Amino acid sequence: MTRRLYRDDAYLLEFEAQVVARLEHEGRPAVILDRTAFYPEGGGQPWDTGAIGPARVIAVIDAEPGPLHVVDGDVPEGRVRCRVDATRREDHRQQHHGQHLLSRAFVEVARARTVAFHLGAEEVTIDLDRAVDDAAVTHAEDLANEVVARALPVATRSLSAAEAAAHGFKLPQDAGDDVRVVGAAGFDEQPCSGTHPRNTAEVGVIRVLGTERYKGGTRVRFACGRRALQRWRDQSRALAELARTLSAPELDTPAAAQRVQDRVRELERALADARGALLGHEARALASEAPATAEGRRVLCRRFDGREAAELRELALLVAAAGAVALLGGAHDGRAHLVFVQPRGSGLDVPALLKAALPHVGGRGGGRGDVAQGGGDAVSGLDAALAAASDAAGRAGA
Ligand SMILES: [Zn+2]
Repeated sequence: MTRRLYRDDAYLLEFEAQVVARLEHEGRPAVILDRTAFYPEGGGQPWDTGAIGPARVIAVIDAEPGPLHVVDGDVPEGRVRCRVDATRREDHRQQHHGQHLLSRAFVEVARARTVAFHLGAEEVTIDLDRAVDDAAVTHAEDLANEVVARALPVATRSLSAAEAAAHGFKLPQDAGDDVRVVGAAGFDEQPCSGTHPRNTAEVGVIRVLGTERYKGGTRVRFACGRRALQRWRDQSRALAELARTLSAPELDTPAAAQRVQDRVRELERALADARGALLGHEARALASEAPATAEGRRVLCRRFDGREAAELRELALLVAAAGAVALLGGAHDGRAHLVFVQPRGSGLDVPALLKAALPHVGGRGGGRGDVAQGGGDAVSGLDAALAAASDAAGRAGA
C-alpha cells in the first residue's frame, strides 16, 4: 500500500520513492510508488503533475494498492527523485480551500448545501441544493473573504468512522475507518482528502464570477487566489476596451451599450420601412411596364439575380397588388428561385405555370391559388424556366 504523503503535508513537493509496480494505463506506462506526494484525481480536485526521475507525470489516477502515476517516459530502477509541480499544487490548494470556505458560507447565510464541486482548468464551480438570490451570494462571498482575511489556521485531524458519525459528518460508503477532517478553526470542518493550505490567508481572495439555476438549485462559478487576480486582469482589460469602443466611462458601459442597441433597433426599423417603400415604387414601375396579352392581362416575366428568395416573393406580391401577373425568377446563393403571383381573379393556373417551369431548373416547389414558389440548383436553366412559364401563361385562355 502506498504511503500518501500529501495527506500529511500539502506543501511537500520533492521526495524520493521506489517503484513497486509497473503497469500500463490507456496505452501509456504507469507506475505505483511505495510513497507519493502526487495527489490523484478525486473529490472534485484534479491530479497533480510533475516528474518522476526523468519522466513527466501526466496523470495520477486513484487506485489500489496506490495511486497510478501515468508517465510519458521511462522511470529508472531503484530510488527515484520525484517532484510535484508547485504552481499547479498552489492553485489547487487555493481553489479547493476557497471552495470549503464558500460552501460553508452558503450554509451560514442561506442554509444552502454544496452537492457537487468541480475544479476545472478554466472554471471552478459548486452546485448548491437550493436557489439563492444575489443578496445571499454577496453575503456568502463577504463572509468567506472575512475568514480568509482573519488568517485562521487550517488543521487536519484523523477521526474514526464512529467519531466522524458522532460529529454529524456525512461520509461516503467507502470512507474506511480513518476519516481525514480538514478545517479552519471555528468556521468549518469537513471530511476531505484534498490538499489544503496551512492558513486561510493563502486563499488570497474568493470571487464569485456568476451564478445560474441548475437542477433545481444554483451553480456558483468562482475563482480564488491567483486565478481570481488573473480573472480580474482579463475583465479589466475587456472593460477598458469596451469603454473605449463605446466612448463611455467604464461603469457607464452597460447603459451606453443599451443605447447603442436601442439605436440599432431604431435604424433597423427605419431601414425596413425605407426598403418597403422602395420595393413598392419598383413594383408599381414594373407593373406599368408589363405588356398586355390578347386577353387583356398584363404579364411581367423577368429575372432578378442577386436577390434573396424572400425579397423576390415580396416584389412579386407587390407587382400583383399593382395589377400585373408577376413571373419572377432569380439566382441567389448558387440556387435558382422562382416566384409566380397573379392578381386575384386573373384566371391563370399559377401552380401549373410553376410546374411547367420547374423541370428547367431541376427544382421543386408548389403553391395554391394565386401564389406559387419554388427553386432548384440548375441556375443555367433559369431563362428557359421563365420562358416556359411565360408560354404557358400566353396559351392559357388563348
Ligand atoms: Zn475538500
